[in-house]
Amino acid sequence: MTHNNFCWIATWKITDRCNLSCTYCDPSIMKRASAPEVIDRFEVVNRIGAYRPHVLNISGGEPMLVGELPELLSAAKKSWDPFIRVVHNGTAPGKLESAFPYIDRLVISIDGPGEINMATRGLGGDAVLEKIAKLIDVRPADSPPLPEITVNTVVTENNIDTLPGFAARIATVSPSVNLALLPVMPVECELSILRDREKGYRRFLDIYAEMKAAHPPTVHNFDCLMRHDDLRRIQCYNQYFTIRFSPRGDFFTCGANLGSQLRRSDNVIAKVFKKGGIRKAFTMIMKAAKGKMGKVDFTCRNICNCENWLDMLFWGMNTGYAPATLRGLRGRLDGTDYQNLDKFVKTNINPNFNISWFKELIETS
Ligand code: SF4
Ligand code: SF4
Repeated sequence: MTHNNFCWIATWKITDRCNLSCTYCDPSIMKRASAPEVIDRFEVVNRIGAYRPHVLNISGGEPMLVGELPELLSAAKKSWDPFIRVVHNGTAPGKLESAFPYIDRLVISIDGPGEINMATRGLGGDAVLEKIAKLIDVRPADSPPLPEITVNTVVTENNIDTLPGFAARIATVSPSVNLALLPVMPVECELSILRDREKGYRRFLDIYAEMKAAHPPTVHNFDCLMRHDDLRRIQCYNQYFTIRFSPRGDFFTCGANLGSQLRRSDNVIAKVFKKGGIRKAFTMIMKAAKGKMGKVDFTCRNICNCENWLDMLFWGMNTGYAPATLRGLRGRLDGTDYQNLDKFVKTNINPNFNISWFKELIETS
């Protein structure tokens, strides 16, 4: 644990370059595929390895554009053997083949069938599914085993009605390709189906039932959002379990570090400084450093749609989404990890947390 973070999952945004220009991507951050990027990524792997995250999540930009990707993943596997998840934009999954021996899960983002994906990403959704089908069907006997494949789809007003057909199409590609559905953020945006929360959620669940019937390995992550009354100030526990790295290996978290805890403790700071008590301030800092400042503040003002999957489990609810992501932790947590987790969750989140249930989910999911 470091800076009050369990470091179970590291997300490395391995490059800022991409060969697509999706309508919702931030062009001020994303560079074109041919842009120069001089980075010693092996040094970054060492830096990440110092935290020994159980799951290494490679995102971008587009990871396929990093020529040394297979060697980097191989180095991570050799060094601390994390579960490796690579997120790909669907342009050429076959080009990742030389990295397959080191990838446990390949996540391919598709916004929906045919024209739907074309409108947002400039790439037909069916064409991406065909590429996945080719990858699965046309494999020479001596090729490396395929990683588990998950299609990630953000649900919006633009694609929701097409999703049952999309799920049925994925079933024809392979019954074992997972489909994960995430709500578009922020929920008050025009594309969101949750602007009217209850009504939107009921509509989603009806469509989800059709999708599940067409393609059983479909899961969704809407419940984490639905448990919040105020979506501008959600409580997300995942920030204490994930660490993030920029392409150059600069470390940052969603917010759960000492500095942010102090910043968030506005009332305490105001109280201390009103009374002018330097000694009190020092005591407060020491308490924060020892993690004894009282209840941890989980408020997230960034709010993303994909990372808060641990939350429901900490409340003892198995929504189906988390077990799909938990597989990466199987066999990677020891007795001390479970003990520390039990203490953290019981103290800060749910006094009735059942660690044996959680452990069983991880070890058998
Ligand atoms: S694939 Fe991802 S990184 Fe590339 S342009 Fe689209 S949203 Fe941005
Ligand atoms: S919602 Fe996303 S950004 Fe916010 S704390 Fe959770 S994981 Fe981090």
